[in-house]
Amino acid sequence: MSKGRIIVVDDESILRMDIKEMLLEAGYDVVAEANTGELAVELAALHRPDLIVMDVKMPRMNGLKASRIIQKSFNVPILLLTAYTEAELIEEAKEAHIFGYLVKPITEKDLIPAVEMALGQSKRLHGLLDSIKEMEHKLEARKQIEQAKGILMDVHNINEEDAYKALRTYCMNNRKTMSEVAASIIQHRTLDRNSVSLPG
Ligand SMILES: [Mg+2]
Repeated sequence: MSKGRIIVVDDESILRMDIKEMLLEAGYDVVAEANTGELAVELAALHRPDLIVMDVKMPRMNGLKASRIIQKSFNVPILLLTAYTEAELIEEAKEAHIFGYLVKPITEKDLIPAVEMALGQSKRLHGLLDSIKEMEHKLEARKQIEQAKGILMDVHNINEEDAYKALRTYCMNNRKTMSEVAASIIQHRTLDRNSVSLPG
């Protein structure tokens, strides 16, 4: 099984081949190669790789600019390759949410651990973002249920416990989720009376 789908981007074809070889030997899939930032953006859209290993200095859109576009549009992690060590560049790289960078010449001993780390970080980050989304979703559902319960209490002049019971019974009888029913209550200001007993 592939350890990850990677795109290699560098304007020097020999270096690109070297890197590709190192990645293949380590068990990764190199799904595409590019020699400009522009092409890197196109290929990122097409292949949605797990990682892009990208040179900084290239004709027709440099690696930093391409990284920003790719990060923003496709959320693919990027490992930069650079011949420079200026602090300025590193600052810029931080800005572009780069997952790491390597200074040329690139050796297998540096490349593979950096690739592994970038993939691991990206996976953790995606996991975190998924949990945040799930939590937001749950919170929103809970707010809706509270609001629906409040409507039932108001409209039917019942206490919170009875409103909750009515909601729950309705859900069970109709095989619907609490959030579905809550959304319907918010819209119609009541429950379908045939399916649940409500006082008043
Ligand atoms: Mg270059």
